[in-house]
Parts: sequence; structure tokens; C-alpha cells
Amino acid sequence: MSQTAFISHPSCLLHDMGHDHPESPDRIHAIQDAMIQSGLANFVQKLPSHKVSIDLLKQTHTPRHVERIQQHAPIKGQYLNIDEDTRMNHGSFDAALYAAGSGMVALDGIFDHKFSNAFCAIRPPGHHAEKDKSMGFCLFNNIAVAATYAQQQYKLTRIAIVDFDVHHGNGTEDIVKNDPAILFLSSYQYPFYPYAIPEKASANCLHYPLPAGTDSDTFRQCYSQRVLPELRAFNPQLILISAGFDGHRSDPLADWNLVDNDYSWLTKQLIEIADNCCEGRIVSFLEGGYSLTALSSGATAHIRALMRI
Ligand SMILES: [Zn+2]
Repeated sequence: MSQTAFISHPSCLLHDMGHDHPESPDRIHAIQDAMIQSGLANFVQKLPSHKVSIDLLKQTHTPRHVERIQQHAPIKGQYLNIDEDTRMNHGSFDAALYAAGSGMVALDGIFDHKFSNAFCAIRPPGHHAEKDKSMGFCLFNNIAVAATYAQQQYKLTRIAIVDFDVHHGNGTEDIVKNDPAILFLSSYQYPFYPYAIPEKASANCLHYPLPAGTDSDTFRQCYSQRVLPELRAFNPQLILISAGFDGHRSDPLADWNLVDNDYSWLTKQLIEIADNCCEGRIVSFLEGGYSLTALSSGATAHIRALMRI
């Protein structure tokens, strides 16, 4: 039996922000196709996500925010504009519930010893969604919901969140700041979207801004010398990953020059730490990545490393 679960849901394909939007349903298709073509699909445990409960969402976000998204979900044929690049269609609310529920399915399987790690191929992504605000292609913060669930259901007191998306995880930081049970480590291109780095970060949120043009050497040095030592010292009981592949050199939205091998290198480092600290427990969530080719090759490199093959 595989030690890695691949969690997704058909509803995540029905969230559509319009023709030409880079955060498209094709992103999930591209990853699934690459999993089949590479043969990896035969060796993961494929599981459907479940809808998150509205109660858990309201413990992660403000109740006001959850109700606003729920009440304003549009009917078929209409769109609701949340900000200049974030929209909802009739499928978005359900997609967001299944995306936010994927971490619960992953954690239940891990703590039931059915597998040791999981990749959640879900959308909309989540790491820009703040406590009281959707933005940047994100409606609810999937990884923060998973952290809340891990605290409540499994009583974890040391949860690490590693965010290697090219954009800063402002939403995750907004939700987990000042929570000593969570360590948030985010590397990102700077200056760059969302242009909202807090003047004074809280002690549990560590920032690793790297310039445009960042390549494999700079990225790996940053992780080897700065990020991973902090992670080891925290001795986490669980590692959650915001896995964005928009730092890839082929990505059309950002300006880093990472390659597939950087994603497998970093994943192997995280596995080694998880093996030493927490019996290999890792849950990874799809965030960005907008070149379908680079997304599928980067994500399969990441998943292959999770599978240890
Ligand atoms: Zn991103």
C-alpha cells in the first residue's frame, strides 16, 4: 500500500473564473494527466475530498466572511467579482468547501495510519485568503483550515507550515499570527504581489524574501541555511506545505528561475525532517503554478519525492 495519498474532488473543476484566467480547471487536469503518464497514479492512494463543515470554516475565518461568500455565491451563468483577479461562478462555493475539506481527509488518513503523507490537488487555492477577506484567486484558506482541524481534532501543539509558493502567504500569516502552536515559514519573491508585508511580523511568522531572478542556488541556500534550521528547531508534530509551483522558470506570472529538481530537493529535505520529528507526517496543498507544463512537471517531482521513489 502506498504511503502517499492523492486527494482531489471533481467539484474543484467546476470553479471557473472565466476564459483566459490563469487559475483554471485545466491546472488539475494537467497534474492528473502527468500522474497517469508518469505511472505515479498507480502507486498513490486516490481519495475524494469531503466538504469542510461550515463550523470549522467559521473557526478559521470570521463567521462574517464565511456567510458573505456563502450568501453571495452566484447562480449559473453569473459571476461575482471579489477583487480584480478573483471571481466566483456557480461552482465556486462547493469547490471551495471541497478544497478546504481536503486537509481533514488527509489528516484523518495519516492519524489512522493509512498513509504517512498526502498531496491535495485542489482549487481554489488558499494561501492569500485572510481571516476576513478573499483575494488573489483564493476564497478560503485551505491550509489554515487544516491547521485548525489538527489542533482541535488531534490536539497538536507544534504545527509547521512551509510555504514555497513564489508569492507571500499573506492570508495564512493573517490567520496564524500570534499562535505559538504554529510556525509559519514563507519564502517569496519580493517586492511582488500581494505587496502587503507586515511592518512587524509576529514571532511565529518568518519571512524569506528573495529577489526576482532567484535561481536554484539562491533558493536552496536560503532553505539550507535559514528556513530548514528553524523548522528543525521547532520540532514539529506535523508539517503542512503550501505547494505553489509558480517559482518555476517557465511560469508566466512570476520571475524566479526554479526547475523541477528544486521541488524534489526541497520535498526530500522536508521528508527527512518529518521523519525525524513526526513519523513522516506531511500534508501538501496545491497553491499556485500557472504554466500547465511547469505545474505538472513540478507537482509530479514534488509528489514523486513524497512517495520516496
Ligand atoms: Zn503564487
